[in-house]
Amino acid sequence: MTGDLFESSPQREPAPRPAEILLRVFGYRAFRGHQEAVIQHVVAGGDALVLMPTGGGKSLCYQIPALVRPGVGVVISPLIALMQNQVDALVQLGIRAAFLNSTLSAEEARRVQAAMVEGRLDLVYVAPERLTLPRFTALLERTPLALFAIDEAHCVSQWGHDFRPEYLGLSFLAERFPIVPRIALTATADQATRAEIVDRLCLRNAQTFVGGFDRPNIRYRAVVKDGERAQLLRFLRTEHPRDAGVVYCLTRKRVEQTASWLGRNGFRALPYHAGMPPEERRTHLDRFLREEGIVMVATVAFGMGIDKPDIRFVAHLDAPKGMEAYYQETGRAGRDGLPANAWMAYGLADWLRLRALVDASEAPVEHRRMERRKLDALLGYCETPACRRAVLLGYFGEPHPGSCGNCDNCLRPPTTWDATAAARSALACVSQTGARFGATHLTDVLRGNRNDRVQGLGHERLAAFGAGSDLDARQWHSVFRQLIAAGLLEADASGFGGLRLSSSSGEVLTGSRGVRLRHDFAGPAAADRESGSRRTPRPVTSPLRSDEGEPALWEALRAKRAELARLQGVPAYVIFHDSTLREMLRRRPLTLQDVAAIPGVGSSKLERYGRAFMDVIRGAGAPSPG
Ligand code: ADP
Ligand code: ZN
Repeated sequence: MTGDLFESSPQREPAPRPAEILLRVFGYRAFRGHQEAVIQHVVAGGDALVLMPTGGGKSLCYQIPALVRPGVGVVISPLIALMQNQVDALVQLGIRAAFLNSTLSAEEARRVQAAMVEGRLDLVYVAPERLTLPRFTALLERTPLALFAIDEAHCVSQWGHDFRPEYLGLSFLAERFPIVPRIALTATADQATRAEIVDRLCLRNAQTFVGGFDRPNIRYRAVVKDGERAQLLRFLRTEHPRDAGVVYCLTRKRVEQTASWLGRNGFRALPYHAGMPPEERRTHLDRFLREEGIVMVATVAFGMGIDKPDIRFVAHLDAPKGMEAYYQETGRAGRDGLPANAWMAYGLADWLRLRALVDASEAPVEHRRMERRKLDALLGYCETPACRRAVLLGYFGEPHPGSCGNCDNCLRPPTTWDATAAARSALACVSQTGARFGATHLTDVLRGNRNDRVQGLGHERLAAFGAGSDLDARQWHSVFRQLIAAGLLEADASGFGGLRLSSSSGEVLTGSRGVRLRHDFAGPAAADRESGSRRTPRPVTSPLRSDEGEPALWEALRAKRAELARLQGVPAYVIFHDSTLREMLRRRPLTLQDVAAIPGVGSSKLERYGRAFMDVIRGAGAPSPG
């Protein structure tokens, strides 16, 4: 009588379906991209490697399987500073989550560990260095395990920019816990890193899921440096006067200076770099996450894993170190899917400086060659007259038809000019001066400047001297930059910015190849590209400056959110994202059922906050007293 036996055995609730959890817990109606396929695969016990852009929705790929499968999901994350926030956000959703890291007291850690062993947690976040400790391994062996999620998996890549030695130890999970599914996640796309992750984390039998890397809500722009501080200020004032964003600078000193300068200009700007005392860094990160409208001025030390959804812009005051770095850094903008800006100021000096760093490094030849290629690709991206999105995605091997309509080159196609004669003069000047001088000296020679250096070297006697007085210094710099980007000139390895001819230069010098270059500065078109003045397309609208005709209700909703966040000591976005508030503003729900239908409102948040927000909306609908 198997039927009877079945009846009398303790009733185990059937596992909930992923789609049900998506709606009930997270308040979302449909999966995105590969989410559903990944979740099914991991729920069934398979290993997975998930590559999706920032904001693509990677977290659900392990959070939902952890809720479906019995036992605790262990999330390995390198970012101790962010664990509290991640856990806060999950607790708001009614998920039983905790973290284990060095910030907990012994008593708190003991409580979390006890909950793990008893299977009373859905998810626990752990730093990688802890995972490989023998005591922790013993704890894991006593814990019912749903899965391991290895977040920011590219940290295992030794050549990558985020390498964490502790990640190398994670291969032991495959040996010690062969039947527990492992899911590795990253937003880094390139093939070499992918292969390294598979290899070092022993994921050879894992299924790989690669999402499209396009971030359509991000508007890409690059401007040639021409007093970049003033350029940045103009950009922030016109487009982001009150928004949260990140400004990346190359050095710590520049971070400090830029932050205080923005402060003097009325922005709430905070510095962040690895040279600051940890305590201060923490405070700044905390304020950035919790308060609204903070501009973080930072080196690359800032940003990995930051899941603040409402970063409205990422600005590079100095060029990034390569296309991956650029993609990662800009990817932090607009995770909520609302419009966001990626703005960069670049110049030849930046690029030459980065080149010199690579040339001077002790890294193996092959590594340096790769780094050089990365920098070349970046300069090519900066100088392209084509759709930036197409160039960016093309770098990651993802075809894009171009004409995205949301980058500077698409919104305002650059004009070009016949630069054959100028290019020939520039190349001849390089050759006549012995192929070892930088753009500044070459420009002096071309423009016929009889300064001390030119005369000391006898360069006023060269044929190239004064041959280019029709272009000004900025225009010559633009020519040199574009010739490098086109592979018609190369940087020498001296580290002093010297330029030399390339194997293709001869075609131009002999007149067999013509050269067209982009206008950077000449004429009003270029000026507009620079400043975002009246003829550029409408700036990205900021969701914080509601233009939907109901600023009072918008502010009231935000005030309610801020109040609820303050009471619990969590960031505002942990209560509701901007996108959810926007939907409330649009739909004005007046019943709990209507509130529940808004994306981002799951059952836990409906219960906690549904009435409070409904009351705000009702209040706005009532005639104002007096
Ligand atoms: P990633 O870790 O890939 O950068 P997240 O997991 O943080 O991205 O998700 C980015 C944003 O998208 C979050 O605000 C998340 O709530 C939202 N999101 C994820 N999946 C969905 C979905 N299926 N429907 C609606 N929103 C989603
Ligand atoms: Zn475009």
